[in-house]
Amino acid sequence: MKTIVLKFGGTSLADSNQIKKAADIVKSDPARRYVVASAPGKRFEDDIKVTDLLYFCYDRARLGLDFDETLGEIAGRFSEIISDLEINFDIAPEIDLIKRNLQNYPSKSYAASRGEYLNSKILAAYLDYDFVDPYYCIRFKADGSLDAAATYAALENKLVPLEHAVIAGFYGAGPDGNIITFSRGGSDITGSLVAKAVGADIYENWTDVSGLLAADPRIIDTPRVVEYISYRELRTLSYMGATVLHADALLPVNQAKIPVNIRNTNRPEDPGTMIVNDLPAEREKHTITGVAGRKGLSVIQVEKIMVSDGAGFTAVILDIFKAYGVPFEQCLTGIDTVTVIIRADYFREKKDLLLNAIREQLDPDTLLVRENLAMIAVVGESDADYQGSTVTILGAVSDKGIELNTINQGAGSLNLIIGVNEKDYEEAIKAVYNSIQG
Ligand code: ASP
Repeated sequence: MKTIVLKFGGTSLADSNQIKKAADIVKSDPARRYVVASAPGKRFEDDIKVTDLLYFCYDRARLGLDFDETLGEIAGRFSEIISDLEINFDIAPEIDLIKRNLQNYPSKSYAASRGEYLNSKILAAYLDYDFVDPYYCIRFKADGSLDAAATYAALENKLVPLEHAVIAGFYGAGPDGNIITFSRGGSDITGSLVAKAVGADIYENWTDVSGLLAADPRIIDTPRVVEYISYRELRTLSYMGATVLHADALLPVNQAKIPVNIRNTNRPEDPGTMIVNDLPAEREKHTITGVAGRKGLSVIQVEKIMVSDGAGFTAVILDIFKAYGVPFEQCLTGIDTVTVIIRADYFREKKDLLLNAIREQLDPDTLLVRENLAMIAVVGESDADYQGSTVTILGAVSDKGIELNTINQGAGSLNLIIGVNEKDYEEAIKAVYNSIQG
C-alpha cells in the first residue's frame, strides 16, 4: 500500500470546523498515514496566530511580567476546539505547565513550540491516532543546524511501526535537551523530513490555496494554477519571491524524489500543484510554468577593452564583492564587459567602497551604475521551442516600450531572467504572462 504524509498548515487547523475538514481528508484515504500539524493560525483577517500569542507570552515572561491574559486567550481557543470536537482532553494541566515553565525558565523556542504540541495532541485524540512528539525525533546539533542523519533514523524508528500517527510540526530538540524550532512556517520542513524518513510515495501539503499560481495575483487577474512544476523551476520562482512552501522544505523531498502536492483544505476536490523531479510528458500544454520577480536591485557594469584577453578579470570583480560581504544575484559577461546585479540594500551600504575598489584594482574604461531595477524570471522546462518562446517574451516586453536592461538565458530550457526598470515591473510581468499563455 502507498504511504502518504500530510501536513496541515495553521489556517487548515485554525478552529474546530477546519480540524473536522482536515480529519475528513485524512480519513478519506487509508494511505494517509502520517499527519504533521501546525498550531492554530488565523481564523479571519485580523486574527492572531497562536504562535504569535505564545511569542508574546514569552516576551513578557522574560521581563518577569505576567502573561495570564494572553495565555488565557490561548487556553480559550484550545478549549473551544476541544468542546466543539467533543473529545476527552484536559487542557488545564497543560496550560498550567506552560505557565510554570515560562515563569521559571523562559525559552522562546519552548514557548513557540507549544502551539504545535497542543494542536497535534488534540488532532491525534480526534482522529484516534498516536501522537508523536518531535522532541524525541527531530534532532538539532549544538550549532542549531539540523542533525539530518539522527533525525531520519529517529523518525523512521518511531513512525514505521505505527499504522497512523500525528506528529507536531515546527520543533525538535538540541543535544542539551532544549527545544529548538525551525524558522517561521517550519512545519513544512517537519513534513518533508517525515516524508523522506518513512519513504512516502507523496507529501501532501494542505493549505488555504489551491496550489501555486503561475503569476502574482496582485499583478495578474486570476492567474492559472500551476498543475506541475519541477523542483528546479520552483527553486527559481521561490528565489524570486513566489511563496508556496518553506524554502528549506524542498531539499529532503527533492533528494528522495518524493513529489509534493500542494492542496487546499477548503477545496479538497481541487488537484492543486504537483512539485516533481521530472515533469511528466503529458503535462498541461502551457509554454511556461510560471513567472515571478522582485524589485530592489542595482547593476554595476565594468568595461575595459581587451578584458576577454586577460584571465581573471571577472574573478577579481567577484572577489571585491566577496571581500565586502556583498552577495551577487547574477553576473553576466560580455566581450569587454562584466555586469554584476546585486541587491540595492547591500549596494547602498557599500557603494563607495565597492566602486573605489573596482577603480583601484581594475582601472576600468567605464564604470556604469544603474539603480532601481527589477528582475523577472520565466521558467518552462518542458518547452521544446524555448528559443522561440524567448523571442516571443522579449518581443512582447519591448513592444510595450519597456527598456530591457539585462537578459540572461541559460542553455537547454526556458529559464529566462530579464532586468527592467522598477517602474516598468508590473507592466513587464503582464506582457510576459500574456505573451505565452496557451
Ligand atoms: N506555527 C509556526 C508559525 O506560525 C510554524 C508553522 O505554522 O509552520 O510559523
